[in-house]
Formats: sequence, structure tokens, C-alpha cells
Amino acid sequence: MFCPECGSTDKEMVGEICIDCFLKDFQMIELPKRIEVQICSHCNSKLEEGKWSDEFIPEEEIIYRALERNIKIADEVSNEIINLEIDQIKGTLASCFVEVAGEVHGVRIEETHDCEVKIQKTVCPTCSKIQSGYYETVVQFRADKREIKPEEYAKADEVVERTLIKQSSSDKLAYCPQIAKLKEGYDYYIGSFKSGKKVAENLKEEFGGIIKESPRLISEDKSTGKGLYRIWISVRIPEFEVNDFIKFENKIMQVTSIGKNSVVAIDIEADKKHNIPMKNMEDIELLKKADEIETTTIISKSPSIIQILDPSDYSAVDLEMKDEFADYNIGDEINLIKIDNYIYLLS
Ligand SMILES: [Zn+2]
Ligand SMILES: [Zn+2]
Repeated sequence: MFCPECGSTDKEMVGEICIDCFLKDFQMIELPKRIEVQICSHCNSKLEEGKWSDEFIPEEEIIYRALERNIKIADEVSNEIINLEIDQIKGTLASCFVEVAGEVHGVRIEETHDCEVKIQKTVCPTCSKIQSGYYETVVQFRADKREIKPEEYAKADEVVERTLIKQSSSDKLAYCPQIAKLKEGYDYYIGSFKSGKKVAENLKEEFGGIIKESPRLISEDKSTGKGLYRIWISVRIPEFEVNDFIKFENKIMQVTSIGKNSVVAIDIEADKKHNIPMKNMEDIELLKKADEIETTTIISKSPSIIQILDPSDYSAVDLEMKDEFADYNIGDEINLIKIDNYIYLLS
């Protein structure tokens, strides 16, 4: 065949021209002279095809990936080997070259391309949210009908901190930009709803209580018509504490433990253990605090009667003997609680 470009007649032809003329202008790969990559200077996440990826990637890897993504290989190339090299990095500019070896129409060829990768430091949307104090949720820590004690606040702070540390491995917005310390309780501002919910659940697990969510519409996205909500989650911990006396379904009980989902209490008349579901918290009445327990002395006993001194006026009071007091002796001290002018002995 005759090549119209070089006039040769004995060469392999690629279309209209010979292979040598074809390869003169042929490039195995296309690569821009300059590539720009945006990375967040706070969290090192990078912008890739319009999306921010939040995995941590070292700078050199970012450069290699930028090169890889921008290489276009011509269809005619086969068995190619591509070698990416970073020549030097000066500030945010990396000088790189790409070596390619491959086969084109049975001929083995090599070429080298230079490329500059510019790393632009910027702030990703998540980090700019964090910088501006953005929050999706407010967790309100409250107690039912009483003030919260300093040690309860300290414990709550600890629970919030622990939860956010744990959440931060999967949620960048697991942070607390603000704690509002109000008279009625603390408001913990939490970056994301997901982590805010977790904080509330863990507070409930620690203190018991009732969680209530109330979304508040902040604004409406004009383009989608979707509302932007902020969720307020209140965690109301019980009025009563462990060892306090409560009334539930007409039984007088002493609280032995407060869990995430239930209150365990002992009926002080029948000496029987009860599990009260936490959702009934509002029906539990606090009768007496544990520090109102009094101590007195046994002055006489019989198989059916135990006689003690009423600590308020030192009068003798006869009470029904129960199994748990059988081993007490005259002169022993015994604990009691007065509820509605009635004395209950405590073992
Ligand atoms: Zn030719
Ligand atoms: Zn960032």
C-alpha cells in the first residue's frame, strides 16, 4: 500500500496512512498540564467530582488520585503500564510526570507527560458549619418537679462528652458548640440530630426519665419547598431518686434502682418487689425523700406486736410484727419512715 504522507509502500497501514506516520502525531494518553484539587484545610477531606469525601487521605495520595482521574487512555492502546511520579512539591504545587509504555497496532511505544497538581486549601461545608456554630438539635436536660443537683450536672456533662467522642468516628457533626446553663437545666446544642438523639438516649440510660422530641421549623428551602427543622429533645429525669419513697397504684414503695426503662421499688407493706415501666413516671408520686428516714428504739416486742418510741413525741407506738423484724431485740435501733401520719418500719 502507498502512504500519501511519506510515500512509502512497504509499511503496515493504519487507515489511510502508514503506521510510522500514524504514530508521529499519536498520543497514548491525554493529561491536562495543570490539575486543581480542593481540600479542606481543617479535616483534609477533598472535593471530588462535586462531592466532598470525608475519609482522611494523605497529601501524596491526593495528588496520585488526581493524576489517575485525569488520565484518558486512547482506545488503540493495549498492555499499557502507567507510572506516576511526584517530582517535587513546593508549597501547594506538585510537579509530576507520568510515564506510559504500551502497544499500539503491535508497536511498543513509550511517552512521558508533565503535569502540575495544585492543591487549593479551602473549607468544606461540614467544617464551615462547625465554624459557624451550626446545630441541628438541642438536648434539654431537666428534672421532674425539682432542681438538678451539681453532681447530676457533672455526670450529664460526662455522658454528653463520652457520647460525642464515640459518635465522632462516624459523624463529623458530633460536637457540642454551646451549653446553655439555665436555672431549670442545661441545654446541650448538638451538631447533628443523629448524635443529639444518641446523647438523649444515653442520658436516659444514666438517669432514667422521659424523652420528648419537638421539631421546630426554622425556615423553608425555597427551591425544594422542604422545611428545615431543628429538633429539641427534652430528657426529663425523675423527681424521685434511689431510696426515696413513692406511691404507685396505691402501693407505698421504696425505690431500689432507676434504669433506662423501668424503676425497681419494694412495696414496704408487703415487702414485694415491683418493676414500674418508665413510661408511667408521671403516675409515680414522690412521698418522702430518703433523708427523711428516722431512727428509733424498740421498747418491747411480742410475736404479734413490736413497740417503738415515736421519735417526734417519744410516745409508745404498737405496730404489727413482721417476719423481717423477728430477730430484732428490745433496745435495738430501727429505721422508720412516716407517711401520712403512719409509721412504717424499715428493715
Ligand atoms: Zn507514512
Ligand atoms: Zn472539613
